[in-house]
Amino acid sequence: NRRITLAARPQGLPTARDFHLDTQPIPEPADGQVLLRTRFLSLDPYMRGMMDEAGPGYAPGVRLGQPMVGGTVSEVVASRDPRFEVGQFVLANAGWQDYALSGGSDLTPLGQMARPSLALGGLGMPGFTAYVGLLDIGEPKPGETVVVAAATGAVGSVVGQLAKLKGARVVGIAGGAAKCRHAVEVLGFDACLDHREPDLKARLAAACPDGIDVYFENVGGEVLDAVLPLLNLHARIPVCGFIAHYNERDAGTADKRTQLLATVLARRVRMQGFIILDHYATRFADFRRDMTQWIDEGRIVLVEDVVDGLEQAPEAFIGLLQGRNFGKVVVRVAD
Ligand code: NDP
Repeated sequence: NRRITLAARPQGLPTARDFHLDTQPIPEPADGQVLLRTRFLSLDPYMRGMMDEAGPGYAPGVRLGQPMVGGTVSEVVASRDPRFEVGQFVLANAGWQDYALSGGSDLTPLGQMARPSLALGGLGMPGFTAYVGLLDIGEPKPGETVVVAAATGAVGSVVGQLAKLKGARVVGIAGGAAKCRHAVEVLGFDACLDHREPDLKARLAAACPDGIDVYFENVGGEVLDAVLPLLNLHARIPVCGFIAHYNERDAGTADKRTQLLATVLARRVRMQGFIILDHYATRFADFRRDMTQWIDEGRIVLVEDVVDGLEQAPEAFIGLLQGRNFGKVVVRVAD
């Protein structure tokens, strides 16, 4: 059984020396277990985080000397679990190795698939990521502009095509002319920009004359810089990944923005800007009704800091900016 284990924790970009190939005897399934032979192994960006001691934020890292983790399409080659028969293909988490044992609970039978490897891509985790992230969080509407980077990758290629299905205008960002051509000619994107060419900011602005309504965040970095000034009112940003920063996430060294993205993603934070002026028409009557009742019942306490005399207003205002007020400042101008 060939296994690729984690030999060292990478500093920055992983190198070949961080991995180790060894060969072990093929394990024997115990009662209730199946022996899996890996047919396809998925490689995904999150694995970079798994190489760090702390993991990517939602799972602990791989232990040194252990096989790298990973989703697989595997064939059952021996079974001591009545639910699985020899020859059956399953979606599994066998990791970077030829053979693995499983207790069955993490296996999904694949049935007959013409292209079983798709269970690791467009019909599997990355495709599902695109589907949920774009449709449930991005909510693209016909005529809106959707921007996605890593546009020809596992997630981005599906994001862009789903956005087209929903009637949006799609601008991709990808590395290199060949990927950009593919995004437009094969995937049907309206435009695709090469982030390795200079002046991405100006080119993105030109490609998005109506601004950006959905930015599907896959990379962070310079792409995010270029996107920010173009975001429209009520734009949506599904925070899916930030691969431009994955090699700099290690403890203490990540910049503030990387920390923010990492936290929003790992904690599934919903962050939404709002300006209260937008909500008077729909929510003010409810607010007045509820608050009046809660104040009458003594369940809400309101503290006022009353300043006497209009001439005191400047000093009171300066004090407010410095924390010298205590409660809501109002100036008693006249009795
Ligand atoms: P891809 O197939 O898109 O491969 C990664 C791509 O990222 C590369 O091909 C490259 O594309 C791009 N890239 C790498 N470094 C940079 C950089 N510095 N700046 C810009 N682009 C860069 O991977 P996936 O589709 O599997 O993943 C895409 C994103 O989705 C990742 O951030 C991943 O972590 C995230 N993800 C999140 C999930 C979740 O549950 N939140 C689940 C699955 C994926 P190019 O050459 O075009 O720039």
